[in-house]
Parts: sequence; C-alpha cells; structure tokens
Amino acid sequence: MFWNNSAAPASEEPSRPEYAPAFSVVYVEEAAMEHPRTKAILSRLPRAEVIPCRNYREIFARPRQAPTRQKQSQALILAVSADAAIYDGAPVCQDFGNRHFYYTSCVMNCIFDCEYCYLQGMYPCGHIVVFVNLEDTFAALDAVLAEHEAYVCISYDTDLLALEPLLATTADWMHFAASRPGLTLELRTKCAAVPMLRALPALDNVILALTLSPESVIRAYEHHTPSLAARLAFASEALALGWPVRLCFDPMLAVPDAESVYRTMFETVADALPMSQIRDASVGVFRISGEYLRLMRRRRPCAVTYYPYVLTDNVYGYPEEIASRLLTVAREHLLQYFPEDRLFFWSGSEESETAR
Ligand code: SF4
Repeated sequence: MFWNNSAAPASEEPSRPEYAPAFSVVYVEEAAMEHPRTKAILSRLPRAEVIPCRNYREIFARPRQAPTRQKQSQALILAVSADAAIYDGAPVCQDFGNRHFYYTSCVMNCIFDCEYCYLQGMYPCGHIVVFVNLEDTFAALDAVLAEHEAYVCISYDTDLLALEPLLATTADWMHFAASRPGLTLELRTKCAAVPMLRALPALDNVILALTLSPESVIRAYEHHTPSLAARLAFASEALALGWPVRLCFDPMLAVPDAESVYRTMFETVADALPMSQIRDASVGVFRISGEYLRLMRRRRPCAVTYYPYVLTDNVYGYPEEIASRLLTVAREHLLQYFPEDRLFFWSGSEESETAR
C-alpha cells in the first residue's frame, strides 16, 4: 500500500509567527562559559538571552518535553562533552566500503524539521546541543589515526553545514582534515547556501553528501529545507569547486504515485548535474527502530509515522513489495550513470534509522 494520508492523524504544524525566533535563548554550561568557541558563537547572537546551567542535561534531558513544539523556537545549548567520543559505526550501518568507519555527535539536533527524522524518537528535546570542545574530539581522532586510517561521518545527528553561519565548526573540521591524509570525512546535508560553500576549501578527503528528494516530498515533509532546484544548484557549484560529491536518495517515501514522483526526480537530477563527475550515490527506503517509531507517533502523529509499517527484527519498514518497487525505480535510473560498485542500496530490512 502506498501512502494513505486519510488514515493518519492530522499533523499539527503550528505556524511560526506565534513563536520567538530561533536561538533567542542560549543555555551555557558553566564548564563551557569561557571556551573560545562559546564566546565566538555568542558574539553571533548579540540579542540572545544567555542562561547559565550546570549541566546541559538539566535542559535537554528533562522528562515530559514537547520536541515538536520546541523546534518552532529552538534554543541553543552550549556544553562540554565529557568524553568527546568517536563512535564505531554499527556493522549494519552504511560504511560505503570503508573498513574503519566512525561517526561523531558534536552537535545534537537539527535546524531543519523533517517529519520522518529519527532524531524525534532519539532525543527527548527539540533544542540544539553543541559540544564546544571540538579539540578533544580531534585529539581522540588523532589517536585513532595513529593506528589506521578512518572514515568519519561528522553530520549524522544534525545538519552541520546548515548551522555553519552560527557555529563555524565545518571550517574547523576541514582545517583539521586538510593535514590528515588518512582521514576521510562525510559531511551530509540538505543545505544549499552557495556563498558558504565558496568560503570553504574543497578537499579530496571531505565528501559532500547531498540528500535529494522530489520537490513534492520536500514541500510536504522536509520543512524549512531548500528546494530540489536549490539543492541541485548547490551540487553543481560544489562539483565546479572540486568537492567530491555524493548523492543520497534516502529516505525514499511511499508517497502517492511514488514511482512516478521519483522517476521524475531522477530525470531532473540527471538533467541538472554532470553525473559522470559524481563520486557515488546511496539509496534507501524509510526505516526506523520500533522504539523510535513508538515515540515519534506520540510526539508527531502524521502520515509518515502512522503508515502501517512491517516490523522485522525490531525495525519498521515498508512491506517488501513497496520497498522493492521504490528501489527498482532508483536502480533503473542510477545504473545509467553509475557502475554497481559506486551505488549503495539499502532495503527496508537493515537495522538503521533514516535521518537524512
Ligand atoms: S532528517 Fe536530516 S535534515 Fe531533516 S531534520 Fe533530521 S537531521 Fe535535519
């Protein structure tokens, strides 16, 4: 069964004007107060109310919050990460053929608001946490690099590039990566700010992974994100500037008339971009863990969360026939431009949440 909006509870999307602007309030952990990155971020928010706190969890981990409402007026929480951890990518996560696959979570939560985003099931709060002690993450990563090369996703639980005007941490990551030939970074984004791209260096070891969706999906479910046309212009500029570019068609959604909608999108993408210059592409259908979906249904009842998914090994996904039809459309189009070894497919059965 493809999408049936009438079966789902209406999504309650409050209109923005009744809310204070994003980042009107900044909570700052005592330990982060004197950090240079804290001061730099606060200098970009001169009118924000700054509220000290002892630990970011006092704000972020409070029970009975309303993350969907909080996203309408996000606060910023500046904190110091106690462990500055580099996490192992789970064996079933998409590693793009890299043996030593890691991810970091230096920022938690996102400025965009996609209805299918797993962060709504993962975090109890809609505000954004930034761990300002990035230098500790770099030190941890240098210890890893002393042993072997590493492939690190730095924009998993957020959209780091979309926050760059405020945080400037992508530039720090790129400065770090420029002198670490054994390191490859993946920077995943739905951002389309071309001037920002021009202000960053293009590096062979930093992959710009751009998530693309049909325009109708963007308008209906990826709130506050750039249009498909803007994302394609951004991709085109990135290629011209010499960035390694990955295209991510993930998650594909079983929207009404999905096969036709996605066919049209793949044709639009191929018309807009020099496909031979794209490094690789990934494709996946929507999937989500049972626990996250339970929380998402409570926090955001909508067509995405109330689809009658099939549960397999505690992962909810589309019925096999639906997933297969969506992936077939993608395969038919993308095999015209990519050899098999540069296409990475995910069906609905793997244990991995859909974020981007
Ligand atoms: S899916 Fe990605 S872009 Fe959308 S809200 Fe989640 S992290 Fe942000």
